Amino acid sequence: MTGSTNANQHHSENWQQQLAAGFSDIEKLCRYLQLVPADLGISRTAAAAFPLRVPQGFAARMEKGNPEDPLLLQVLPVEQEMHPYPGFGTDPVGDLDAISETGVLHKYHGRVLFIISGSCAINCRYCFRRHFPYADVQLSRKKQRAAVQYIEDNPAISEVILSGGEPLLWNDARLGELFQRLASIDHLQRIRIHSRLPIVLPSRITPQLLDCLGQSRQQVILVLHSNHANEISTDVAIVCKALRQRNITLLNQSVLLKNINDSPGKLCLLSEKLFQAGILPYYLHLLDKTTGTGHFLVSETNARNIIREVQNRLPGYLVPKLVKEEAGRLSKTAIAL
Ligand SMILES: *Cc1c(COP(=O)(O)O)cnc(C)c1O
Ligand code: SF4
Repeated sequence: MTGSTNANQHHSENWQQQLAAGFSDIEKLCRYLQLVPADLGISRTAAAAFPLRVPQGFAARMEKGNPEDPLLLQVLPVEQEMHPYPGFGTDPVGDLDAISETGVLHKYHGRVLFIISGSCAINCRYCFRRHFPYADVQLSRKKQRAAVQYIEDNPAISEVILSGGEPLLWNDARLGELFQRLASIDHLQRIRIHSRLPIVLPSRITPQLLDCLGQSRQQVILVLHSNHANEISTDVAIVCKALRQRNITLLNQSVLLKNINDSPGKLCLLSEKLFQAGILPYYLHLLDKTTGTGHFLVSETNARNIIREVQNRLPGYLVPKLVKEEAGRLSKTAIAL
């Protein structure tokens, strides 16, 4: 008993140390990748507004000496972020006000979304989070009580989505507490976690977390976020297997990103790699039009052509649904092919 506790403690310190040891210095990352910063179109202004942040294990999957590596392009602060693009703003989906007040977002029927943690292990350049008022959004204990009460008072809610930012940045004890609270709500059937951590920092899947998710009274769905086949490393596949052994359903959502995954070949490879790891493709999102991300945009017409070709090449269950998010809708908007 004591022995296993020690081993577990060691494991959980591990992910927090790895998190703290991630790259936050552009020069260091460039040295590690054998790249010359001057060749990369780096923007100090962009980095000051939304800093570089990338776990070492994720950087290890980047190809050395390749300035166009698809994983590097997701995290490198570049000059293009400073170009204005028409139609791009700081709150494209219109959620920010609603979120920061309550920590709860109830837009869709039967599903309520909790903003667990506003921060992340990695700063993805295409993300809306670059304009997010972080300090305000964390689900404090007080907000948590109100949020759980909100579900208790609404029998029509059958699913809670733990999102962020990054919900798995909460430690095991804090998540365990929340799961315990949720366990007593009879009408709540599913707990869904939206997280990029199993991809970018797989050591986060500790034995305690596996126990917590595996013993949940509600069914647990983990929606991962991976955009490129190179992200699915052996250690990612190993933790996915452990999750599946606990009956956790694994899905993946991606964002369609120019020069990163905007071809049928790349998306087919991603779907194949995901399925090998026991993950089903769920959504392929069109980019939210967030200021600073215009250079990642793939037009709706191109997106349709790409996904049609994916559909021609793969079995139906490996084709993600192409969607976009629009303010004021009752669901994500499916894009007809
Ligand atoms: C995306 C989203 C959901 C989940 O939608 P699904 O289509 O069920 O995946 C729920 N609530 C909010 C606010 C969302 O943005
Ligand atoms: S919310 Fe997801 S996409 Fe955005 S920075 Fe965090 S991990 Fe990246």
